[in-house]
Amino acid sequence: MKKKLFGLFIFWLLVCIILNFLNNNIKKDKGNIEKYSMQKENIVKQIEELTVENYNYDLINKVKVLYKDTGIIEEKKIDEYIVNVVAAEMPVDFESEALKAQAIVARTYTIYKVTKDKKHNDADICTDSNCCQAWISKEDRFEKWEESKVEKWNKLVSAVNETKGKYITYNGEIINAFFHSNSSGKTEKPEDVWGGSLPYLDVVETSGEENYTSYKSEMVVSKKDFINVLKDKFDSFEIDFENNDCIKIIDYTDSGRIKKIQIGNIIFSGTDIRKYFSLKSTNFSVEIREDDIIFYVLGYGHGVGLSQTGSDALAKNGFTVDEIIKHFYKNIEIHE
Ligand SMILES: [Zn+2]
Repeated sequence: MKKKLFGLFIFWLLVCIILNFLNNNIKKDKGNIEKYSMQKENIVKQIEELTVENYNYDLINKVKVLYKDTGIIEEKKIDEYIVNVVAAEMPVDFESEALKAQAIVARTYTIYKVTKDKKHNDADICTDSNCCQAWISKEDRFEKWEESKVEKWNKLVSAVNETKGKYITYNGEIINAFFHSNSSGKTEKPEDVWGGSLPYLDVVETSGEENYTSYKSEMVVSKKDFINVLKDKFDSFEIDFENNDCIKIIDYTDSGRIKKIQIGNIIFSGTDIRKYFSLKSTNFSVEIREDDIIFYVLGYGHGVGLSQTGSDALAKNGFTVDEIIKHFYKNIEIHE
């Protein structure tokens, strides 16, 4: 009898333990579900009201990409998308620290586009470099490389992964991370290109940019075309090539690029002349020859923000990715 009672007691005890265990697990699951729904609600809320202030890389690390060739929109993880951006923007044989700088700049630019400067209705960013940001598919990139394709691609993936989640802020706000190919030794202030200054962008000197093919270029224009292009812009334009002062630089920007240039009877901005004659930069000089006008151009791009060849030159001199970023953008923080 005693044995039976003892057996029943043990059985009851076991049932209690099992019931308690099950109950606790249900509570835990319920707690998890509640936690998950709250997190989901927060994410949805943040996406609905996405601004630079509430942007959270850990929660919102996806971007809707519009492919310019097909018109298809695809949601991609930011870092997967950025590998293809870096592949389009910077030669893979550049130093790893330079590629990492490009990855941080591309991520910053992407977040800026998503939160502050959305140009497309259903997409965050497109693959047209003239509109948003350059992008190349892995297949197209592989076709352009002759050898070690997988190793090269992995180098780009590493540059992105090793800077995962990093973007640049100024006073807690995401910066407009302008960049260009070659500064020819000095970067340009944004006010001298588009008007409007930014506190983190100034003239910055970098040595070693002359060692890249993008440093020097020439543009030859026949005198006839030269006159036609400028007459097309200004009906009243006229020039007398016999006059020694017929092309005269009036003013330089702080970085030494051409700000104003008098050609014949009209004063042009350096940026307009760059546009009219497809010059690689506004850092140019002009020579008048018998039949032609020759522009000797230094650097490549608008010159504002990070210089890509400058980054590579700095990396070759031992600069780390953070030092490269802080060289080109002033008083900024690298958000992790
Ligand atoms: Zn676009």
